Amino acid sequence: MALYHLGIDDTDSLKRGCTTYIGALLVERLIKISKFVDYPNLIRLNPNVPWKSRGNAAICLRFTSDTDAMGILGNATDLVEEYRDKKDSKNQPGIAILEGQVPQIVRDLGRRALWDVITPAEALDVALKANVKYELIRGGRGLVGALASIGNALERDHTFELIAYRGSALWGKKREVDHESVLMFDRDTTSHTFNNIDVEEDRVLITPHGPDPILFGVRGDSPSVVMEALSKIKFVGGERWMVCRSNQGTGAHLIRSALIAELKPYQAAIIEGTISRVPYVLKGSHVIASMRDSSGEIDIAGYEPSGSFRNIVRDLLLGDKVRAFGGVRLLESGKLTFNLERLELLNIVTEAPANPICPNCKKSMKSEGKGKGYQCKKCGLKTELAVLKKVDRKLINGAYLPPPRAMRHLTKPFKRYGAEKRSWDGVVGTFYGVF
Ligand SMILES: [Zn+2]
Repeated sequence: MALYHLGIDDTDSLKRGCTTYIGALLVERLIKISKFVDYPNLIRLNPNVPWKSRGNAAICLRFTSDTDAMGILGNATDLVEEYRDKKDSKNQPGIAILEGQVPQIVRDLGRRALWDVITPAEALDVALKANVKYELIRGGRGLVGALASIGNALERDHTFELIAYRGSALWGKKREVDHESVLMFDRDTTSHTFNNIDVEEDRVLITPHGPDPILFGVRGDSPSVVMEALSKIKFVGGERWMVCRSNQGTGAHLIRSALIAELKPYQAAIIEGTISRVPYVLKGSHVIASMRDSSGEIDIAGYEPSGSFRNIVRDLLLGDKVRAFGGVRLLESGKLTFNLERLELLNIVTEAPANPICPNCKKSMKSEGKGKGYQCKKCGLKTELAVLKKVDRKLINGAYLPPPRAMRHLTKPFKRYGAEKRSWDGVVGTFYGVF
């Protein structure tokens, strides 16, 4: 028996397909000839790379089998060929298989793929060194995610997602998932599931909107809690279901602190500094401010879909000390901006210099010009010193996130803070079934 890690990435497009669905079909074939040592791993990678597939999801299956690696690779490649979006010109599927324990260079690549941009050439180099066998369709890009999914073994914090799929006859049709039953499921499981609904807009989030095979997906802290959805959520047209172990909701991409001057396009990063230009609202309701650290300055942006989160950005003042979490965007002008995914107000300005009051006349003294002090226009009294006046702030120091509908798949929701897992027990329960 050999231990295998099989990674698949970049098979879908905005219109069609889903890498996890191909994973589910592969599970159906492999489950008869192998023993799974892990739940299928659903790995989300750096969400800021512009050529990513829809959700930037890669899948890794880990199992022992007597079948040789080339046989499994061929089988997986056939399935990808059958189910990938062939009309789309962008996807470049990659299928990779590694035998034995995952070497450190593959782990390192997996970790870096969460926040950085990795070239196909770098992935090829690692694949050769780690003796990974692979198939590439129409380009090398899919190898990056396939390899990175193998390298992300989810040894520490992780979550689970139950995904219910619909048959091909229903792809592109409206999904029939009962709204009320989703609200009920959310209420019943709320301390152990996340992002089922968006309260701000009373919107169900478990159903995607594209024509893909996914009927719905629920995310939570254990296999048993997400599987409750099978009995609690009412839906029509289910074909099969699968429970994945995942880095979704763990914040795994926001692990690198950087100086502003070090930021490169499409990286995810954490930066810390002071607000250096007051926020303004762009057409389309995007809010832009600037922040500065010892190395440089960058615009930070709260985009329209982030809803109420933009109000936090809008209410920032010059001098506020903040820590920003997000991704680097490259504008057409060549300028970089920082797309906010989380904002921590470390020390906001609560006092500002103001004109002093004349002790004799009880009137506000007038400024004599910048740095020249103040004078009372009535009695002529002069003073050098401004007074500090309390500034009315709507904000308080603390952490702020966009509402669930605008979160990245990787964003860690507030309810998961303090609930992070330090390890995985290695127990693989039932994770696959047909309706
Ligand atoms: Zn006076």
